[in-house]
Parts: sequence; structure tokens; C-alpha cells
Amino acid sequence: MFAENHILGLPCIFEKKDVLNKRKEIAATLLLYEVNVKECCPACGWKPEGEEKLMRCGMCECYFHKKPHCVGEALHSAGLDTFICKRCEYNVE
Ligand SMILES: [Zn+2]
Ligand SMILES: [Zn+2]
Repeated sequence: MFAENHILGLPCIFEKKDVLNKRKEIAATLLLYEVNVKECCPACGWKPEGEEKLMRCGMCECYFHKKPHCVGEALHSAGLDTFICKRCEYNVE
């Protein structure tokens, strides 16, 4: 019974290959996208506008909104202009 199920399930392997190819396509698209959104706050994906207060990551030089949901509650209230963002923090460790 179990062997029979396995044989019937074989075509799924080909479908998975298609899925992998699709994933590669999507990954390539996302990389292009990342270049285009470089000016945007990496935490929320929105472009900082006008008089919004920003914090710059000292390592990747990305600008983040100085808001609790972008740099964290502690940094939001700190009087700093630069910090190390989560991405760089994890890369360093
Ligand atoms: Zn943001
Ligand atoms: Zn960074």
C-alpha cells in the first residue's frame, strides 16, 4: 500500500523543480528591487519624506526612520543620529 502511494506521488518531483525555478526568478526580481529601494527605510520599506527624523546605520549607511517600529523603542528616544541596524548587527556577530 505504501509503495503504491509513493509511485503515484512521483510526478510531484517535477512540479517541485518548477517551483524551484520560479523561486529563483522571484529571488532575482527581489534583488533588482532592493537596488531600487535603497533610499527607503529598510525596516518599513517606505521612503523617508520631508522633515522626518532619521537615523543612519554606521555600517551599511542606510537611513531608517527614527520611529519605534523602525529603529526600536530604545533608539527612538535616544539622542543619537547613527546606530548599527539589525542586519549589520547580525552580520558582525
Ligand atoms: Zn521606517
Ligand atoms: Zn546597517
